[in-house]
Amino acid sequence: MKWQNELKSSIRKPEQLVEMEVIRPEDFENIKQIHHEFPFSITPHYAKLIDWNNPKDPLLLSVLPSLDELDRAGYHDVSGESESTKEVGVQSKYPSTALILPVSACFSYCRYCFRKRLFNPDIKNDEIMRNLDLALNYITDQKKLDNILITGGDPLIIKTNQLRKFLLGIRELDHIKIIRFGSRALSFLPSRILSDPSLLELFKQVSETDKRIYIVNHFNHPNELTNTAIEAADALLKTGVILSNQSVMLKNINDDESVLRTLFNNLAESGITPYYHFQCKFIKAANHFRISLLKTNEIFLNATKGLNGLAKRVKLIMTHFTGKIEILGVDDINGNQNIYLKYHQARDPNMIGNIYHFPIKNDAYWLDDIPKAKFLYKK
Ligand code: SF4
Repeated sequence: MKWQNELKSSIRKPEQLVEMEVIRPEDFENIKQIHHEFPFSITPHYAKLIDWNNPKDPLLLSVLPSLDELDRAGYHDVSGESESTKEVGVQSKYPSTALILPVSACFSYCRYCFRKRLFNPDIKNDEIMRNLDLALNYITDQKKLDNILITGGDPLIIKTNQLRKFLLGIRELDHIKIIRFGSRALSFLPSRILSDPSLLELFKQVSETDKRIYIVNHFNHPNELTNTAIEAADALLKTGVILSNQSVMLKNINDDESVLRTLFNNLAESGITPYYHFQCKFIKAANHFRISLLKTNEIFLNATKGLNGLAKRVKLIMTHFTGKIEILGVDDINGNQNIYLKYHQARDPNMIGNIYHFPIKNDAYWLDDIPKAKFLYKK
């Protein structure tokens, strides 16, 4: 089936959830309000992977709006992305990298998304570009950039014709060496790749020895890495595209060492490098997905013990306002625990590579919950 037709058949109305008996009729109004603020949509491909009789199915929990979202603790913009916005739809936190946000639509919507605010019609923001020509003009002028990340939303929801003009334009720019797409197409709608030979042709045309396209995928659970997803990954690899994966530690979805171990090993075997595994951010209406830093560290450490060498490239990361912080580990001396953190990337370039250690307790979910780390985030 053509991907556009499959996408149109998604489950996307709260009424359907009542009919399917996955939400109670008495919860309908609340779910409708949640859906207004942050839509839900479940592609036919993803719907087939869900065990609808199991309310705890991890894939169901990933995409089903829940009353837990009425808990409004947290931040709309936890990473201070609006402060990194250079112009409408362009963010640059580090001088050589620009994030382009050309679209605020996705194939399905992850309930823990840290960009929920971009989908909320009640929140005014000018963080989406909606026009790839403007993005191309910006990138052409910014000679300090050498890599761009096209994100959103999901940029692969943009029609191939529009992507073609943009990518062929980028191909002419000597200063851009790496083009990254952040996409969940392989998890939610592999037909986006498999039913559109023109997209594969385009990637093949643009991927050159000095101009690499990376697709940073987003699989959180091994059940998402289906044979069809692997087939789509293989088709992309054959065009010269390089594949990696980012995942998020999510309560009741993948906070389990064997689930993560299987995920990371299967990804590596499929040619998709496990890259970053993120601590879940303190996002408004997604608090129920968070677990403490100590728990995250323990699960991740145990998961990595059974990984093959290539899968072991995965890093545990907290994307804080101050930079990208790798969680190196925790030690325990006479019952006193210390967490070790390393700035993998930082707004202040002097901090890159710096290693810190702080006493930590079970109630810390984020850097800002560690009292002794205050000097890093409050200046
Ligand atoms: S695919 Fe990405 S941008 Fe879209 S809802 Fe999921 S995490 Fe957010």
